[in-house]
Amino acid sequence: MAKPSFAVIGLGRFGRALVEELMKLEAEVLVIDKDYEKIEKIGKALTNTVCLDSTDVEALREVGISNYDKVVVATGMDVDSSILTTLILKDLGVKEVYVKIQSEYHAKVVEKLGVDHEHLIWPERSTGIRLAKILVSNSFLDYFELDDDYSFITLKATDKVIGKNLLELDVRRNFNVNIVAIRRNDKIIIPSSETPFIEGDELLFVGHNDNSKKFSKWLNGRKIKLS
Ligand code: ATP
Repeated sequence: MAKPSFAVIGLGRFGRALVEELMKLEAEVLVIDKDYEKIEKIGKALTNTVCLDSTDVEALREVGISNYDKVVVATGMDVDSSILTTLILKDLGVKEVYVKIQSEYHAKVVEKLGVDHEHLIWPERSTGIRLAKILVSNSFLDYFELDDDYSFITLKATDKVIGKNLLELDVRRNFNVNIVAIRRNDKIIIPSSETPFIEGDELLFVGHNDNSKKFSKWLNGRKIKLS
């Protein structure tokens, strides 16, 4: 299967980080910004850069934007520009448009233009929510919401699990959560049912939020009635 091709419009901090990571992952990426300096700065490592205003339909048509599989609109604070760019991309037939969102109103408008809800990107909001969960839990090392009910969480191994393995702990039956990996000395390992946990391990697991909370409490020494 051919590799998907990407275009990123707008080289603010978000757009730049996105482009740099895509380059690291050896993806084909077209980079667009109306500010020549921004293009020059990133352009040294790239061949596919264009300086144009994305609200100019002809300019976007000329670079063949509709040939790109996924286009990210990251034009920053200029919401009008983002909305107009999105409208043009949809008109030109770009199937997968992702938009960096500034406000609820912005989100509503781009959804009306046909952008999927999952393709709305709220970097500040997502980071804020994630940090709040980590701070309040007092034990989560990391947290990703999978949907309203399920999350992917990282917890530090405690005496409750150190020296024991998945078979002995039977976490799945006791808490209905799934430990899918261990981060040990900065490396990810997939535990077998007989891999014992050691001091310093971080447990990466998936579960329903209610069950994850229960597991986290137990792991950190609170009394929990097991079924
Ligand atoms: P970030 O958090 O990503 O930095 P920001 O709101 O600070 O977001 P800006 O620094 O404003 O973003 O960067 C947005 C980029 O998008 C700028 O480089 C700007 O030149 C570019 N841009 C804005 N409007 C257009 C447009 N119509 N066409 C092309 N590039 C645009």
